[in-house]
Amino acid sequence: MSLRSSLAFLSLCLTALPLGATDVVWPTTMDRDSTRLPQDYLQPTVSGKTESGSFGMVREDGKRFHEGIDIRPAKTNADGEALDLVLAAMDGQVAYLNPNVNGPYGRYVVLHHGGAEIPVYTLYAHLAKLEPSLRIAQPVRRGTVIGLMGRTSAGASPITKDRSHLHFEVGLMLSTGFNLWYAAQAENRQSANHHGLYNGQNLIGMDPSPILAQPKVDLLAAVRSQPTALTVGLRTSKTPDFVARYPALVRGDAARAAGWYVEFSWQGMPLRWTALDAKSPQLPAGRWRLLEVDQRRRTLLIQRKMLGADGRTPGELLTQNLEILLSTAR
Ligand SMILES: [Zn+2]
Repeated sequence: MSLRSSLAFLSLCLTALPLGATDVVWPTTMDRDSTRLPQDYLQPTVSGKTESGSFGMVREDGKRFHEGIDIRPAKTNADGEALDLVLAAMDGQVAYLNPNVNGPYGRYVVLHHGGAEIPVYTLYAHLAKLEPSLRIAQPVRRGTVIGLMGRTSAGASPITKDRSHLHFEVGLMLSTGFNLWYAAQAENRQSANHHGLYNGQNLIGMDPSPILAQPKVDLLAAVRSQPTALTVGLRTSKTPDFVARYPALVRGDAARAAGWYVEFSWQGMPLRWTALDAKSPQLPAGRWRLLEVDQRRRTLLIQRKMLGADGRTPGELLTQNLEILLSTAR
């Protein structure tokens, strides 16, 4: 084979490779062909605005974050209750089952997808019923029934029948030290953590819509494609377990790091970690320090509490996420 024809053959092979390696199915029994436009599948809040069912600062005039998407039912019974089944979006295993209505998520299931380009979780909330045969650590194939769509929630405002939906999230876990962090917070003394590591504060979501839009997705590329909104310098010689669990997001030698330069997305996901040596000017004197802010995202970062109201100091959420991330690095 000549060089030219080998190159042509190679490029043919490369173009024949699928762009993404993880197979994704629509997480409800709604026909995927009928989910082309957001208004086809999103369940809005009482505001009636389609956007309120999407991911982002879409609630209460941009003041409240929605960490997933709300998928409306395709079928209801004569009483108006949802009949759609809820399905595993990707191959994975059962990570958490909450059959009780004791928090804003109501009855919910969390799956872990360790075989994806980066291990992600998916979360399915407000279920009317969990599939009773599910067990923790059980492998599940994509498309497996995991429950029935519903409207369970112990949140401040009940979900009415006409707003039944699946709340669907996809994202990363901040820390396996979350339970220690939670117990150490004075404001949590009166409220037990019912959900352990699968408490929403420890799960950081990204926009599920582009992930569900294709039958095959490169999840690592999806995580990496989120822009950096702010950066933080951390000082710690003990490696945060996030670094060990998501090595694809890490540059440099963790074993020799005196600290880390961490890039965060606007919603608070740590996207890129670069090891810092002891002489690095980015290494803070204290435990951590806010370094740079993308001023184009200032308003969004303030709304999300990644920044304080002045737009310069760390916000409550940034502080919380950093303390959770550092809970295994004391
Ligand atoms: Zn929701």
